Amino acid sequence: MLLCKLIVSSTLKLSLRLLEKQKCGGVLEFQRCHSINRLESAYQAIRDKCDSKKLPKDVEIKAVFACNELDLKEVKVYGFDYDYTLACYKPSMDYLLYNLGRQTLIEQFKYPKAIGELHYKPGFAIRGLHYDIEKGILLKLDSFLQIQFGSVYRGLTPLSNEEVLQVYKNRIIPIAYVEARTELEQDAYTKMVQLADLFSVPEMTLLCNVADYFERNHIDFHPEILFRDVKNSFRNSHPVMHKIVEQNVSEYIKHSEDLRLFFNRLVAADKKLFLVTNSPYRFVNKGMAMLIGNDWKDYFDVIIVQARKPRFFTEKSRPIRVFDEQSGTHVWDRVMKLEKGKIYYEGTVKQLQDMTGWRGHQVLYFGDHPYSDLADVTLEHGWRTGAIINELTHEIETLNRTDFKQNANWLQMLTQLIEEHQDCEDPNEQRVLAKWMQERDHIRNEIKFVFNEQFGSVFRTYHNPTYFSRRLFRFADIYTSNITNLLNYSVNHTFYPRRGVMPHEYSSYFV
Ligand SMILES: [Mg+2]
Repeated sequence: MLLCKLIVSSTLKLSLRLLEKQKCGGVLEFQRCHSINRLESAYQAIRDKCDSKKLPKDVEIKAVFACNELDLKEVKVYGFDYDYTLACYKPSMDYLLYNLGRQTLIEQFKYPKAIGELHYKPGFAIRGLHYDIEKGILLKLDSFLQIQFGSVYRGLTPLSNEEVLQVYKNRIIPIAYVEARTELEQDAYTKMVQLADLFSVPEMTLLCNVADYFERNHIDFHPEILFRDVKNSFRNSHPVMHKIVEQNVSEYIKHSEDLRLFFNRLVAADKKLFLVTNSPYRFVNKGMAMLIGNDWKDYFDVIIVQARKPRFFTEKSRPIRVFDEQSGTHVWDRVMKLEKGKIYYEGTVKQLQDMTGWRGHQVLYFGDHPYSDLADVTLEHGWRTGAIINELTHEIETLNRTDFKQNANWLQMLTQLIEEHQDCEDPNEQRVLAKWMQERDHIRNEIKFVFNEQFGSVFRTYHNPTYFSRRLFRFADIYTSNITNLLNYSVNHTFYPRRGVMPHEYSSYFV
């Protein structure tokens, strides 16, 4: 009986093969059809599987995300940066900074008047890019210091992959070119600067606009000189920006109904509050009065302005000084204790800790700059840290789009299909694989464009976390798009990090 079944089944298979062979006309043709059919049915099977998969649930836009476990019960003291942490700016701030920087370039640095016609391009740059000051190239790096192809610009012109390889000879940038271990190294080798805060987005746009103008008009320029001039013109125009914003805060700062509520809740829970900002007092005072009310200072136990972070966190000795609010002048007295209601400036974190007794894990400090706000306090002083990343709103809205979810899902599955079939050597099969690779490139670009046409997501390159997000995850215990999102959690909440999938662990189609 069994033998009969075997004979019938093998006869059936043979006749089917013969039929296919006849259809294809000859042995070679038969093999070709067979191998292509095999790949095509594998493709179709995985496509069907992808279409039948349920898409992941939307990510909560106002959620707080944990990189590290953080128990708020242990936090007795809440510290805050001001710009882009408590005060979130409207797009009008980007235009103001850009226009002032451009004006300073023309008036103080004697750049051609024609650059006055170069307008701000919203959405050109994103935070976290690197600028190669020697070569005049703006580019996005991943956490392995690999260049993300397709996100490399000279002026406003994208460089092709071949051009990038011609310039850098490699797709990985040597670490000494990006990160300095000592100050000596900083001058000798480090030729890339990272633009890690939101104030630097209009700065990068001006830099690229002017470089493009020089290129188009065949004007020779040294990229490093242009970089330093643009940087200095932004720095020089900051005091003017402060004055303009002070006169009309609501034109530039987004209203926040919830901020006062948030502070009320912290005070009611017996938490101490402090502010450490690099901005000057008058500027902060106007903004906080709009955001919280004229009594905003009552919420804070310590207020330090013009702190010069990151030096505030790194310098060993620099006296803390008192600013006399009434006369608007600085006072020369030695500060022996920190008093509520007084305004201090400069100083160091050591003095803040010594005079308050606030230490280590009982302090949670929020800032928007992963390095100058968060790196030193967590690495040197063991403070807990929270990052306020405004771009998360746009990033999560994009992640929640159905077309994005479908593309991300399919990209992952198609990549796996390619990985499993890549070793076939037949030229016909190779052609099918090349077609798959082309499709994969197409989806990868689509996934990138939806975040930002030039540079993609702030957090991801094609496959890896960006250089920016690696640093962010290293230095921030939690991160969220707005400080008031914490109102969605109790003051005793514990944030738990998600158990991520490591390469050797179970696979997940959607990461
Ligand atoms: Mg800030």
